[in-house]
Amino acid sequence: MNAISFHVAVVGASSAGLACAQLLRDCGGSVSMFDPAQGATILDIWHDEGWRLASREQGTSTGRHDALVLALPAMKAVELLEPLLPMTAMRAFTMAPSRDNCLWLPAVHVGLCGDWLCSGKVRDGALSGRALAARLLHDRATLTTSSSYN
Ligand SMILES: Cc1cc2nc3c(=O)[nH]c(=O)nc-3n(C[C@H](O)[C@H](O)[C@H](O)COP(=O)(O)OP(=O)(O)OC[C@H]3O[C@@H](n4cnc5c(N)ncnc54)[C@H](O)[C@@H]3O)c2cc1C
Repeated sequence: MNAISFHVAVVGASSAGLACAQLLRDCGGSVSMFDPAQGATILDIWHDEGWRLASREQGTSTGRHDALVLALPAMKAVELLEPLLPMTAMRAFTMAPSRDNCLWLPAVHVGLCGDWLCSGKVRDGALSGRALAARLLHDRATLTTSSSYN
């Protein structure tokens, strides 16, 4: 049993975000979800001793998160990342579906999932969400250490 605790913010509560959150919770993670359907349209992200978020409806969230999952359509993920992580945003923007079915950036503790990242004939958001959760869980021991940014 791994006793490392970690807190993840998942932005987007469709099939990819829900599948990612479920696997993280099943493996002992604490997950906060943000989606317009739950009154939290995320407009801004930044890092201040952990990932922090602000929504249109609720303003700045009080939570600080060890990792950030963007389970969003590609353009929305790029819009959020661009001001803070322009290199990462560019990489996401130009990214083709890969066999990984997701994008995980261990240096900054940011992950992207969504059906647009899935290879194969069926674009499966849940498959992508689970793939990202598995990558994040593999690195969970490093999640509470400091990140570096481009
Ligand atoms: C007409 C149509 C019919 C379909 N029928 C089927 C079907 O029968 N079976 C099937 O398996 N698939 C179907 N699909 C495909 C399926 O809808 C997608 O594969 C799936 O929705 C992809 O999920 P996702 O999590 O990758 O992304 P999305 O569904 O795009 O989810 C993105 C989430 O992010 C949220 N979000 C957006 N902006 C923000 C923000 N700023 N802050 C916070 N949250 C935000 C959205 O509210 C949404 O919940 C259909 C698609 C279409 C268009």
